[in-house]
Amino acid sequence: MTTIGFIGLGHMGSPMAVNLLKAGHELHVFDVVTANAEQLIQHGAKVMSTVKSVAETSDVVITMVQTSQQVSDLCLRDDGIFKHLSSGKLYIDCSSIDITTSQLLHKEAEKYQLAMLDAPVSGGVAGAEAATLTFMVGGKAPDFARAESILKQMGKKIVHAGSAGHGQAAKICNNMLLAISMIGVSEAFTLAKKIGLDQKKFFEISSNASGQCWSMTSYCPVPNIIENVPANRNYQAGFMAKMMLKDLRLAQHAAEAVQATIPLGAVATELYELFINQGHGEMDFSGIIKMLAEQ
Ligand code: NAD
Repeated sequence: MTTIGFIGLGHMGSPMAVNLLKAGHELHVFDVVTANAEQLIQHGAKVMSTVKSVAETSDVVITMVQTSQQVSDLCLRDDGIFKHLSSGKLYIDCSSIDITTSQLLHKEAEKYQLAMLDAPVSGGVAGAEAATLTFMVGGKAPDFARAESILKQMGKKIVHAGSAGHGQAAKICNNMLLAISMIGVSEAFTLAKKIGLDQKKFFEISSNASGQCWSMTSYCPVPNIIENVPANRNYQAGFMAKMMLKDLRLAQHAAEAVQATIPLGAVATELYELFINQGHGEMDFSGIIKMLAEQ
């Protein structure tokens, strides 16, 4: 049993924290939206009133917030994690953030003699609930070894991607691919429908043919084809479109930094920008099929 501080109890953080409680850890939780933290009380978590108190009372601190700016601020401010977590302890950031910020935070953590890992996830809310997330982890091998058993309680595939920031690098590449494949699946179903092909029939065929992919078989954007997906509840997130756009922009920045050519990534970024400009930022990212179907 470890005392784990968990900051950011949103769509992902909340079910991840529940799985750590189920595994028998003591959890000290904090969220700027107090109600998000308080819903964990029924599962046995202790709600803390400040980030400082989370850091002071925990052996391991995990963050699962939205943006690079939020993670930076939580780590570096005077009443933040780095100044109040004792030296030698472990900090794991599971948020999806930019590689440069993550690497800078690794360097800062070292100054405080803290072990740090960037450990973003894939698998969505359903994966967080079922403890089947994939963790892509950047940092030193001994720190990875320390964290592995905890991460296994929230996921089924835990991969040491490489050094500081390499977890974020894997996440950015994966999510660019996810956005592209979601748009591809949406286009294929839209075309099938307009031609007059039954969408369930098309799913039956394509999910067993070479077009098969995760966006189709685990996160189908067409309602009522598979169970437990945002499409079945009018695209209530899930993974918000604005968060997908954030990841696509991170991929664009990363590509510019290393002069990589990613034309489909650029088109996917433009399409999600258009979707969000139409007022759908809070909608699940699979809702982009609605925009494509209306063209
Ligand atoms: P979310 O908005 O549902 O949750 C974020 C939580 O962090 C919220 O409860 C918010 O109040 C809290 N928060 C923000 N700033 C804070 C601060 N300074 N201190 C304390 N709490 C703070 O977001 P989410 O969907 O859970 O995503 C979290 C991260 O995981 C993001 O980086 C996202 O890109 C990534 N991600 C999300 C999914 C998904 O399917 N939702 C999948 C994989 C990765």
